[in-house]
Order: sequence, then C-alpha cells, then structure tokens
Amino acid sequence: MTFNFSQYRDQLLFVPLGGSNEIGMNLNLYGYQGKWLMVDCGIGFAGDYLPGVEIIVPDISFIIEHKKDLLGLVITHAHEDHLGAVPYLWRELECPVYATPFTAAFLSHKLSEMGPGKKPAIIPMEAGGKVDIAPFALELIELTHSIPEMQAVAINTKKGVIMHTGDWKFDADPLIGPVSDYAALKKYGAGNVLAMVCDSTNVFVEGESGSEGEVREHLSKLIGECKQRAVVTTFASNLARVATIIRAAQDAGRVIALAGRSLHRVVAAAKESGYLSNDAEFINDREVMSLPRQDVLVLCTGCQGEPRAALTRIAGGEHQSIRLQPGDTVIFSSRKIPGNESKINRINNRLIQGGIEVITDKDYFIHVSGHPARGELKRMYEMVQPKIAVPTHGEPRHLHEHAKLARLLGVKEAVEAYNGAIVLLEEGEAAVIGKVHSGYVAIDGTSLIPTDGDVIRTRRKLRDDGAVFASVAVAKNGEVKQVRLAAPGLLDAREDGELLEEWEAEVARIAGSGKRIGEEQVKEQVRLALRKIIKQELDKKPVIEVQVLKV
Ligand SMILES: [Zn+2]
Ligand SMILES: [Zn+2]
Repeated sequence: MTFNFSQYRDQLLFVPLGGSNEIGMNLNLYGYQGKWLMVDCGIGFAGDYLPGVEIIVPDISFIIEHKKDLLGLVITHAHEDHLGAVPYLWRELECPVYATPFTAAFLSHKLSEMGPGKKPAIIPMEAGGKVDIAPFALELIELTHSIPEMQAVAINTKKGVIMHTGDWKFDADPLIGPVSDYAALKKYGAGNVLAMVCDSTNVFVEGESGSEGEVREHLSKLIGECKQRAVVTTFASNLARVATIIRAAQDAGRVIALAGRSLHRVVAAAKESGYLSNDAEFINDREVMSLPRQDVLVLCTGCQGEPRAALTRIAGGEHQSIRLQPGDTVIFSSRKIPGNESKINRINNRLIQGGIEVITDKDYFIHVSGHPARGELKRMYEMVQPKIAVPTHGEPRHLHEHAKLARLLGVKEAVEAYNGAIVLLEEGEAAVIGKVHSGYVAIDGTSLIPTDGDVIRTRRKLRDDGAVFASVAVAKNGEVKQVRLAAPGLLDAREDGELLEEWEAEVARIAGSGKRIGEEQVKEQVRLALRKIIKQELDKKPVIEVQVLKV
C-alpha cells in the first residue's frame, strides 16, 4: 500500500534516501505542506559485491514520482558523498540547485566533465546567509569540517525548526574558513529546535576530533625532514591539509607536482574562490623525474588505495611519469576508511618492498577527522537542545549508538531511521511511520544499472566461476553433429585442452542420445549436461552459454 502523504500535509516529515544505512551517498528529503526539499545528493563507493562498479548512487524513484513538488536541492558542502551524484541524477529531477560559492565552483567543474545535455544552473547562496524556499525558510550556519564552506541548514517552518547539521566538527584552529558559528547554534538552541538531524560518523570515538592547526605543525616538520623525494597523499577535498602540504613544501624549498584529477579540480575551485593564493605554483607531473630528488614534493590522490588513483599507479610502477626509488618517502596524511584497509595495505607493502619509507597517522600526528567525536556531539546537543534527535550519516550501528548518546544527553525522543523511512517530526509522536522505496543504483561506465539486476548477478558469477561457451552443430534432421567448448576464466585455454575435449565428447553423447528435438531443448540439454559435469569434476558453477548452429 502506498503511503498517504496528504494525511500529514501540515506536519514535518523526514525521509532519508541515502546515508542512513551507510557512511556515504547522502540524500535527505524534508516534506511539509505537500512540498519537498532535498538536502545533498551524494555518491557512495561500491564494495566487492558489485564487480566492475566503483560508484553507487541512491535509488531516487520515490522523489521522481513527486518531482513536481520538489522545490530544490540544497548542498551542504563540496564532498562527493554530498554532491557527487548530481551529475548522474539531476536530469531526472531538474530542480533548482543551491550552493555557496566554493561548493558551486567545485560542482561546476564536475558538471563540465558531464557529457552534452541539460545541466543545472546553480543558484548561489551566501555562506551563513538565508534562502527562502517557501514553505521552508533556510538559514545557513557555518560549521567547521575538512572542507571550506560547510553549511548546516536551519530549516524554519511554521511547524518548527529542523537543524540539519551536515558534516561538522568543532576546531578552534581550522586554518581555512571560520570556526563553527556557536552563536547561531545557541540562538536556535534556546528551546527553538524541534529536531536535529546530525552526523554520526565518529560516534564511537571518545573525546574530541583534534585540530587541523596541530596537524600543520607535525606534518610541516615531517616534510622538512624528508631526505629524498617526498610524496604526500591525503583527501583531495581537505583544503586546509592541501594548503599545509603546499606551504611545507615551499618552506622546504621543494617544488610541487599535483598528481590526480580530483586534486587539480579542488585546487582550481579553491583558487577561484580565494581559498588558495594564486602564488601557489605547480609543475607538471612529467617534470618530476628531471629534478633532483630532494627538490620536489608530489602531492597525490590515492590515500584510500583507489585502484586508478595516482598513488596506486606510482606504487605499482605504472604511473605515466613518476617512479620512486629507495630512500624516497611516502606520507599518508589520512586515515584508513573502513573497507579500504586491504587495498591500502597492499600499496604500503609494495612501497616498502621497493625500499620506500612509508609514514602513516599511526606513526605521527598527521591526520585529524572532520567529523565530531563524542565530546563534540555532547557540546552540540547542549547548545542546540533539540526535542527530537534523528542520527544520520552512518551505518545502523552508528545510528543506534548516536541515538543512545542523544537520549543519555537528555533528548526526549531519538528516532533510528534507515534509508527509505518516513519519519514524523512531531513532538511527543516522533517515529518512523512508513516506508518509501529506496535502494542503490550502480554507475557502470556511463550507464546507471540496478545493483540487483541480471548484469551484476552474471558478472559476479563470471568473476567467481568463469564461463563456458558451447557451440552445438545440429543437422537439419535434429541430429547433434558436433560440440565445441571454450571455458574462459574456468580452464586454462593452453593446458586444459584434453579435459575440454572429454567434455565435448560427453556433451555430444548426452545431447545426441535423446529423441530428435527442437533447438531450445538442445540448448537446455547441453546446459544441464555441462552444469552436471562441471559441478562433479570441478565443483564450480560457471555461466553457461549455448549456441546452436544449424548445419
Ligand atoms: Zn559526508
Ligand atoms: Zn563531508
């Protein structure tokens, strides 16, 4: 049964379509008076269960159905998990997109990489400013994060205020951008906030997230001490960190080469928005090898072991120009995001085997998170004092822990809501009251495909068990004349010829032994025979494709 939204026309609803089952892929919807407001539209990273797919986006079929009532998309900040899906999904929504200058510049760079077709005109918002999208009156509140211009959104309605925090931390020395706007938070906090929808990423981390200013001291010292080539990898979007690395390189008398497309994109957006001075100059990565080793620093992408990122190619000896030698240093100014450990470890091992010094956040204080630890969450709840807490930006285990923490801090109602939940934000009645369709869509090259469809299922089987292609020659009278087999990914084409011939004879015997039958039945017989033989002999279940040729 479909949910009757008209019944709740005058109440506030919250529907997350992404980011409430996982860290990543954030997409939040607020409903009021028959209208919808979207906050963020991000991508997530696919796991091993989606072979050949790196990126996933939320299934937005619910909001496409309500497209005429979607008033706009407000983007909190320029992280991929908050805006990365715009190039893939906006054409199905065609709603106004609102962003502050730096976020807009970053998104424009991304959109320019999109193919031809309609693109959103981005409506500028002022950082810390106000935007009226009636019946929602938005006030932006600047919070510190690992990228400039992160805007919490105070959604003012006749029914009450929702504080949508976005990603945030409290840092007295963020280096780039202002410290979090405590005054604005407190202004809302004086009993005025109905619900707070808040970041759960680091709810298991005790204490505070730590200061970017302190990282600068340690990282600068470390870069100054590098003897030969210095390679530093970090999250491209962490502009304060990028600026620290640039400055440390300049102080150490090194020229800087950028390696990785997302770094070029973020540096361009930062220069346009005035966050990086134009005097920061970069050499082309092709020039790196012609300079004395101690005179150059390579700032590169790939701190999460992404397969195609610059560091992965450098470590594998596959980069178009950069090669490392024993005595060079690679610094990971980052943390291992859960799920990426094995990829990152593989890179570390390759580097170490090559005689390269590897330094991580385990060795030195060279990374802090952009998300609030428990100490900061406590301070946030004390300031904002929401009546209802809705944890978001987390897996179910994060949301559950965050809800417990919120209750512990005196919030009366904490609602644990996963993707697709319809949450009623009503004092005394806050709860999940229904469900809409939600899920994941895979970005496969340039197409969007379902994550549970035939393509992915078959690809997974191909990956795990290979394939068998059977060509069956059948005479006009229905007699099976010959069977030819190929088994890529299952057998070795050069060494297993004899086994294949045995199977061919066996399949021909089985398929030829029955009555004279139609093409479809021949196909089915061959498929069944192959399945049985391969299961018995190899205990594998490959993809089997049978072609019948009339001779
Ligand atoms: Zn995020
Ligand atoms: Zn973020």
